[in-house]
Amino acid sequence: MKIEILNTGSELLLGSTANTHGTWMGQELAKMGLRVQRQTTVPDGVAIEEALAECISRSEAVLVTGGLGPTSDDITREAAAKALDVELMVDEGAKRSLYEFFEKRKYPMVKANLRQAEVLVGADVIPNPNGTAPGIYTPPRLSGSANCALFLLPGPPRELYPMFHAEVAPRLKALSGVETISEVSELRFVGIGESSFHEGIDEKLAEIEGLEVGYCARLGEVDLRLIGSPEAILAGRTIAESAFSDFLIGDEGFSLEEVVVRMLTEKGTTLATAESCTGGLIASRVTDVSGASAVLTHGFVTYSNEAKHQLIGVQEETLRRHGAVSEEVAREMALGAQRVSGANFAISVTGIAGPTGGTEEKPVGTVCFGIATPTGVETFLECHPRSRADFKQQSSHRALDLVRRAVRDLNS
Ligand code: ATP
Repeated sequence: MKIEILNTGSELLLGSTANTHGTWMGQELAKMGLRVQRQTTVPDGVAIEEALAECISRSEAVLVTGGLGPTSDDITREAAAKALDVELMVDEGAKRSLYEFFEKRKYPMVKANLRQAEVLVGADVIPNPNGTAPGIYTPPRLSGSANCALFLLPGPPRELYPMFHAEVAPRLKALSGVETISEVSELRFVGIGESSFHEGIDEKLAEIEGLEVGYCARLGEVDLRLIGSPEAILAGRTIAESAFSDFLIGDEGFSLEEVVVRMLTEKGTTLATAESCTGGLIASRVTDVSGASAVLTHGFVTYSNEAKHQLIGVQEETLRRHGAVSEEVAREMALGAQRVSGANFAISVTGIAGPTGGTEEKPVGTVCFGIATPTGVETFLECHPRSRADFKQQSSHRALDLVRRAVRDLNS
């Protein structure tokens, strides 16, 4: 089925609102075994009618978001009426719902709100329990020979998402006749690049009949997306898991910090952080996760040599002899943080974010990690020359992955 999304709203093109509806609906439709063929974004105004006419002429279903509000720039209803050449009329049921909505909340209803009860003649009114603007569905016959179904949906996500699930998805399922033949599986790998997948498993995955493979790479992690029949997905997963099991953190879309907090919680263990170049980012990411208070005991931000010495007992001699960015200092930071906090695990990071401060021996991007565990301590020296922000992000990611691996290997 040829499905298009048309997002309306000048704020989307001005960049003041990120257009997340396309992404969200694309994902929801993919779960149903349906694909979006094209996504268009247009500003408020005459462009909506023009774009609608084009979408209707080439697609079998068009999902339009935004422009159903009461203000003068909300003209999606009018644009659709013109594109389909049908009249608008006040729907008595929609009008009643509007009055009830305002009465319940004790808000005064202004005349402009009545526009929201107007629907295209021959269309279905889609109830909106979370807002004032009902959605509108016009069945394919209303577009004549174009034979295209049209959904006009509200912009606010708290209104759109439930409406999509309750009213749009069932109609699209019936129209398309698709019985969810495809499944989607997304495996998240940390600490490995896209090119390793290409070299390691791409050819093998390509041999699996009916399997569609896609990658989404971010700093420090890659999502492998598999779409196909359950059998094809299982075959793909088996190949990916056996090649890169060490890097796999899950298939439920959880972030690395969520996985780390969950693993620490499950094992009844605790963590402390000792951060220099990441300035507290690791602790911040851990505390983004609900339940962090049960596992994170201390977050030391020891940016200066004095702080490293005073707070977590790094020897002045070690700092003098090896420099603050060294595996020796990372080691003492991790052990010191573990000792002072009493946590089971402590992760440390010290590095040169740049752009200044690099030397021939220790260029910008040099970073050292220490991970203290109940059974010992390990250190790592790496180099990631990037912008300051990316360096911090990548270093925090690597640090969290070291925690993940250490917790995973505890008692195993
Ligand atoms: P309202 O009654 O609030 O005017 P509406 O149906 O007319 O609703 P818009 O005015 O276009 O919808 O959008 C309302 C809000 O919904 C926007 O300010 C924005 O926060 C959000 N929104 C709209 N479109 C998108 C989009 N494509 N992606 C993400 N958010 C969006």
